[in-house]
Amino acid sequence: MRVRLDEDACVGHGRCYEMAPEVYGEDERGHCRIEREEVPPELEEAAQIGADNCPERAISIERGARPRARED
Ligand code: SF4
Repeated sequence: MRVRLDEDACVGHGRCYEMAPEVYGEDERGHCRIEREEVPPELEEAAQIGADNCPERAISIERGARPRARED
């Protein structure tokens, strides 16, 4: 999983880094700073919670393509 920040959309509510400080940090203006772009499996839930709680939808999550099950 990867997380990305839309810096133009972030206004500094701080919900992301309050809820998931392992993944999201705070810059000198109180805006989000991504601490880990590549999120290890054990922090994926925290990363998702932080993204879901951003009122500006400034954090997007990319999940790697999963191998598809064969259908034959
Ligand atoms: S919750 Fe959203 S708007 Fe607030 S600091 Fe985090 S990314 Fe920025």
